Amino acid sequence: MRSSLFTVLFCTISFAGICQEPAKEELYPCGAPAGVSDFMEKYQKNPWLYAQPESGDTLWVAVQVHLLAKDSGAGRIPWDRLLAAFCRLNQDFAESRIQFYMKEPWNLLNNTGWHTHSTIPQGIDMMMTNNAEGALNAYFVSDPAGNCGYNLPYGGVAVAHGCAGPDDHTWAHEIGHALNLPHPFIGWEGKTYNYNNPTPQVLAYDYTYFHDTLDTQVPAPLDTALVEFVSGANCTVAADRICDTKPDYLSYRWNCNPATQMSSVKQKDPSDVDFYSDGTLFMSYADDACQNRFSAEQISVMRATLANEKADWVTPVMLQQPVTALPAQVEPVMGQSQPVTGARLIWKSVPNATHYVVQASRIPSFGYKELDIVTADTFAVCGSLTANKTYYWRVKPFNYRHACQPFTAAETFFTNPSSRTGEPDADGWRCFPSVISDESVITLETPPSWAGNGIRICVFDMAGKPLFSGETDCREKMQIEISGLPAWPGGTYQLIAVSESGVKRQTLVKQ
Ligand SMILES: [Zn+2]
Repeated sequence: MRSSLFTVLFCTISFAGICQEPAKEELYPCGAPAGVSDFMEKYQKNPWLYAQPESGDTLWVAVQVHLLAKDSGAGRIPWDRLLAAFCRLNQDFAESRIQFYMKEPWNLLNNTGWHTHSTIPQGIDMMMTNNAEGALNAYFVSDPAGNCGYNLPYGGVAVAHGCAGPDDHTWAHEIGHALNLPHPFIGWEGKTYNYNNPTPQVLAYDYTYFHDTLDTQVPAPLDTALVEFVSGANCTVAADRICDTKPDYLSYRWNCNPATQMSSVKQKDPSDVDFYSDGTLFMSYADDACQNRFSAEQISVMRATLANEKADWVTPVMLQQPVTALPAQVEPVMGQSQPVTGARLIWKSVPNATHYVVQASRIPSFGYKELDIVTADTFAVCGSLTANKTYYWRVKPFNYRHACQPFTAAETFFTNPSSRTGEPDADGWRCFPSVISDESVITLETPPSWAGNGIRICVFDMAGKPLFSGETDCREKMQIEISGLPAWPGGTYQLIAVSESGVKRQTLVKQ
């Protein structure tokens, strides 16, 4: 931890510009390299040479999530959004009997250049620097090189915040790649299909994008692909080599027809047979609304990958039981009064939950949150709130295998009107802000009666472990720069200032 004490004469307040994250519509669907992997090519020719798990066995696959923020610690994916995406991921893979569990702890990384990276090599650097062994590595970033997501062979998957949520299938799509599934439209990358042109039998496509950067690690890429026929005549050697994914020549994000779940764009194969693309396949570029399945052969490829090439990702047994209950909120409830600083929220544990997301907000929709933390405890302490206001708070239980429980209904409390945040106490003591980020400057105003004394300032975590301590001459106003406070687990700290004239304390909450 790096900390320092210093005084300042002037206070400059700057407002960071509101930074919009790229929305799904602004991003290209996928930046994964085109082609058929070495494993896929060999497996497809001789599947009987490879172990296949028993059909009824569920494969439990370890995922290490890496959650990127900017250097300042801002801009990380909200905890509840990550959990909603994780819930969706396991729902998307339920039919395949492949289920994912998150390794503990989540890896919280602060790096502006990785949080928004404009090139894939920057993502390679991110993954090679941070990948965990024995797990599929998944990186959640604001902008993965202009894509909703990508998979790096032998690296990991990157997913954009804007493409990760309860109704998004980008995470499933990229993991499909990580388990050796190609797109169904190999050869059409970068090309716009035109019905008015004759459909060729063979397409050349550019595989060099990744080949230059991962020269020794990418399986021998193809540079031509056969175009798949509707009849299935060449399905074992054309496009993705998978026969139960029918022809699809659409290599851009397309909207499916909700009535048919097929493309509205009509295509024709090289023998002039008309067809529409299947929008239900996760590996297609159909919009998320239609995607709902992997095909049976795709599932066989993924399960064979896990039984052979990626066996070190698989755990034989389910490690955690599902969370099926919601916690009872003990207090405060029904508008009970709470202090402006240090309001304490308490709930009861529920079976199988190892962690809870806790949120407090002045807005019933929780559109803006004064508190948004993950804790393994059954209580949370708020920082400074606004006096004389109604606050809403709620809890979402989860464990690293199961994150599909919703939040509790919101309970309410009312902040004490007798004190107002931001005003010095009766002695003239004030410490602000109480809600801090990774690198925060905290301002202390000391009581006039402390003048001439030395002052000792300590920051403790909730277990009472000192994280920072320093001494200086007491001044009327001073600032402390605090950085590197561990964000996980728990984000609540106590700042204690001691002089010969007294002791003052302030609860700090790290967002
Ligand atoms: Zn893809």
